[in-house]
Amino acid sequence: MSGIFGFTCTSCGERHEGSPSFAFRAPDPYLEQPPDVQARGSLGKDLCHYQDEEGEHYFIRVVLDIPIHGMAQPFIWGVWVSLSRQSYQHYRAHHAQPDINAAYFGWLCNSLPWYSNTYALATSVHPLDANHRPCITLHEADHELIHDFKHGISIAKAQQIAELCLHQTAAQKA
Ligand SMILES: [Zn+2]
Repeated sequence: MSGIFGFTCTSCGERHEGSPSFAFRAPDPYLEQPPDVQARGSLGKDLCHYQDEEGEHYFIRVVLDIPIHGMAQPFIWGVWVSLSRQSYQHYRAHHAQPDINAAYFGWLCNSLPWYSNTYALATSVHPLDANHRPCITLHEADHELIHDFKHGISIAKAQQIAELCLHQTAAQKA
């Protein structure tokens, strides 16, 4: 494992240092709701819910790590997954002291830049300690993101995705 991830950006010419980490401020479905539905729901740093004619929708913020070949630190995505009401309530009830033996089923609720549609990929959510958001693992399917999750990405690919996030998308530097 070598040192700090860093590269000279082909987009802005600056040097970007540090492990790439990008996050979404909300689950995509919440942002697609009209203002009145959003106002009756809630969006926080870790939790989100709203109600529409189909019923209640529950989301939590989680972390997806993509290994970078030769680097100690992964490419980190801060993303949202939807949970069942039961899982959401269990997660909230254990928020101060997460139940590390729990695992929830979740649907990925963000469209990651670079990749073809990542919305509604199936995940498992694994609570960590109280100082860390849960991490997710991706269920088996034929998708580039799942391949990268399992096998990691090259430094060159990490750089390309980071440049895309830094300069061309809604994902924010975390
Ligand atoms: Zn740049």
